[in-house]
Amino acid sequence: MRTSRVRIGGRTYPLHSLNTLVIGSGAAGLNAAVRLHEHGQADVAVVTSRLGAGASAESGSDKQTYYKLSLSGDRPDSAAEMARDLAAGGSAHGDIALAEAQGSLEAFFHLVALGVPFPHDRFGAYVGYKTDHDPRQRATSAGPLTSRMMFEKLLAECRRRRVRVFDGHEAIALLAGGRGVRRRVLGAVALDRAGLGSRERGFILFNAVNVIAATGGPGGLYEHSVYPESQTGSHGLLFEAGATAHNLTESQFGLASTKFRWNVSGAYQQAVPRYVSTDARGGDEREFLNDYFPDMGALATAVFLKGYQWPFDPRKARGGGSSLIDVLVHEETVVKGRRVFLDFRADPRGDGRLAPFAPALLGPEAFAYLERSGALMATPIARLRKMNPPAVALYRAHGIDLAREPLEIAVCAQHNNGGFRASVWWESNVRGLFPVGEVCGTHGVTRPGGSALNAGQVGGARAALFIARRRAGRPLSDAAFARAAGPLVRARRELAEAMLGREQAGSLDPAACLAEVRRRMSACGAVVRDAAAVRAGKDAARGLWLRARRGLRAASPRDLPRAFKSLDLALTHAVYLEAIAEYLDRGGKSRGSYLVPDPAGEPPHPRLGGRWAFSLAGPDDFVGRNILEVRLGGRGRPEKRWVPVRPVPPAEAWFETVWDDFRNDRIVAEEE
Ligand SMILES: Cc1cc2nc3c(=O)[nH]c(=O)nc-3n(C[C@H](O)[C@H](O)[C@H](O)COP(=O)(O)OP(=O)(O)OC[C@H]3O[C@@H](n4cnc5c(N)ncnc54)[C@H](O)[C@@H]3O)c2cc1C
Repeated sequence: MRTSRVRIGGRTYPLHSLNTLVIGSGAAGLNAAVRLHEHGQADVAVVTSRLGAGASAESGSDKQTYYKLSLSGDRPDSAAEMARDLAAGGSAHGDIALAEAQGSLEAFFHLVALGVPFPHDRFGAYVGYKTDHDPRQRATSAGPLTSRMMFEKLLAECRRRRVRVFDGHEAIALLAGGRGVRRRVLGAVALDRAGLGSRERGFILFNAVNVIAATGGPGGLYEHSVYPESQTGSHGLLFEAGATAHNLTESQFGLASTKFRWNVSGAYQQAVPRYVSTDARGGDEREFLNDYFPDMGALATAVFLKGYQWPFDPRKARGGGSSLIDVLVHEETVVKGRRVFLDFRADPRGDGRLAPFAPALLGPEAFAYLERSGALMATPIARLRKMNPPAVALYRAHGIDLAREPLEIAVCAQHNNGGFRASVWWESNVRGLFPVGEVCGTHGVTRPGGSALNAGQVGGARAALFIARRRAGRPLSDAAFARAAGPLVRARRELAEAMLGREQAGSLDPAACLAEVRRRMSACGAVVRDAAAVRAGKDAARGLWLRARRGLRAASPRDLPRAFKSLDLALTHAVYLEAIAEYLDRGGKSRGSYLVPDPAGEPPHPRLGGRWAFSLAGPDDFVGRNILEVRLGGRGRPEKRWVPVRPVPPAEAWFETVWDDFRNDRIVAEEE
């Protein structure tokens, strides 16, 4: 990396010139940096808002899962089969799924070699278990903090390799130039938080041949979110650079605690806690599930199943399925304005109609599970302690004692299956820009649990290989960079000055902007998507973004990162709602992890009435055969396009031809 100073628009800025800039220090970004180094490309640096921020470092669940080819048991597995399973939910491109399946073992053992403690038996078998949307037992876990351990080991490896990390730096623009297929990345602008008070407002420029965007999922979009608060996402940067996104409609929602953000999956449900709702002030306590189940056995079994059917799934909402519980929690919290808690202190009490809970009332599968776990105790907290003591300790470490207080929950956004489109080498439509990790949308309508972490590792490894072989050039000279990127840098700086210069009266406060984004997304762009509300929301969202561009204010230089972030999220929510509206306009119905009210359908439960009626999308619907792509076109108008789903390609099984291509360097090749 070469460091200099460059003059643009009459101001001088620090400039770092290098081959590859990685933005984001989650498991995906750090892995990409390590992989580049391994491939001999050492001219790499990482820019991150904060080391330790992001979903990888700060979130997890009861048993956080990594999905890979099966490595144990006596049933053979194959990459082609795994690819078909990865794509089985629909709207996922088969070639990408095949690359993820094929790369899963290499990525997994890379983590094992770095010291992530994935368990194996005495013969060396990495024994698997079954996760959601997994027909096999391909899942493994290093415990509740799998992704945190990945982050730690990958960071240690970056340090060992002396990869430069710009900590406390917020990227506020990607620099790109050229049109159409000639569009290419030039670098990025970041704000150094330590330098915000300086004359240059902390502006730092990066002149890079490649940018790996590993900025994670759009957690900052939602009021009800289980993404850690540090994980807001930066999709707006990529939209503004001209990158094409797809499957933005496909996010995952599920039950999570809100005081401390954590998924209440697995043992938290298998312990069969009491679900209660109260009014806003904590009075009028009710076991609100009682009204919707024929008996306590059905109720408790649905709660138990929620443990491993964690994401909301409209196919499991009718007939007393486990996703009816998400609907009922949403009804209590969002529709009725009440609060919902999991109470581990006592068993569900039932009412005059429903008997009090007893393990013997559970369905046979659930009963056998508790019995085999030695967990047929008298209270949910005792059962939870028996099945998963760290699950209790985790809340205690965050100031919540499940033995003493109920745990407040909501239906929260957890993950975006969609994101930016990439080639099989994880390059976006902008040359040199590689989205990896959650910001890259490789999953379809559903995905096996654990495949997000695998996708991030495989994507970074493949991007690194491609960069090392095909994008190994040197960055532009300072003068050429200033010519190419100067107007964009100047515009960003002028925007910063304009935001700082705005009076309070008549301008938009970043906090108010963010609150509006989150309210709108949780009201119409989350787990329930009413067509009329989405259409109105889409227009209001665009209005907010335009208003934010003209009128956001930064109270002081310290406020600049927050102001840029709210602008980014205002744009992001406008594009997301545009995509959701387009999906509904094309006749899209309930699927994945969201419900689209449809008067012609049926409600999840007769007591819920017609307002909740919905129909399921079918695999042959137009929206199932095609994938919705969105990019920001001229004058900031989203441009939409539906493209057919690419199937899983047949295996290239003839050794001699592959070897010939390999020896002649035709494998790691430009996409046509
Ligand atoms: C509660 C929860 C449980 C989950 N459980 C599982 C599971 O069991 N299995 C599974 O496969 N997946 C799971 N996921 C999803 C998975 O954890 C994430 O998809 C994955 O960790 C994302 O990794 P990443 O590296 O792409 O992004 P992150 O780890 O989120 O990192 C993003 C990084 O980008 C930085 N950043 C963002 N914008 C900027 C900017 N403008 N400038 C500088 N830096 C920036 C952030 O600070 C952060 O360092 C779970 C997610 C949650 C929230």
